[in-house]
Amino acid sequence: MTLRQWGANHARHHARVDQEEDPYNATRGFWHSHCGWLFTKRAHRIERYAPGLREDTVVMWQHRWYVPLLLSGLALPFLVGYAYNGWSGGVGCFMLAGVGRIFLVLNSTFCINSVCHLWGSQPYSQSNSSRDSWWVSLITLGEGYHNYHHTFPRDYRNGLQWYNFDPSKWLIYVLSKLGLAEGLVRCNSGVSSFRRLFLTT
Ligand SMILES: [Zn+2]
Ligand SMILES: [Zn+2]
Repeated sequence: MTLRQWGANHARHHARVDQEEDPYNATRGFWHSHCGWLFTKRAHRIERYAPGLREDTVVMWQHRWYVPLLLSGLALPFLVGYAYNGWSGGVGCFMLAGVGRIFLVLNSTFCINSVCHLWGSQPYSQSNSSRDSWWVSLITLGEGYHNYHHTFPRDYRNGLQWYNFDPSKWLIYVLSKLGLAEGLVRCNSGVSSFRRLFLTT
């Protein structure tokens, strides 16, 4: 799935969360929200959402070269392994650094749409099924704090507290200090630490 498709589905997920139009609709169960949605026609109908992505040159470059980029991510591990240890090295690297890597990255990302809408705490809002999951943040570079993200989607952080594991937040912050990112939005949730720690579902 290209950046453009993913971004449009992400926008639609936020706009229609838990409804029929939500591509990852968690009310349809774990497997649909985890990866079953990929095999529905709705997942590929993206034109109405995030039309601004069409204007982004990086997004459209990746959209255009998606298949060669995907194949290079499989071919390069094979070539490196083959150069190091012949066919067995090539096949081993292809399986581990190619197929295995894609499997792990996709499934950890899928956990945000499935696990983080089914299990975890709801300290910031109970108006939809999104939940905070600290262990999902460990395998998704910080995106497990999904209840906060749905409540304050414009905030560049997912993990609000300084001790929340959110490398993406830390990277964006450092980039802003270097002048490579700007317009960082922080939302003041007004939620006390006590409520965050003890209000669970
Ligand atoms: Zn989001
Ligand atoms: Zn969500």
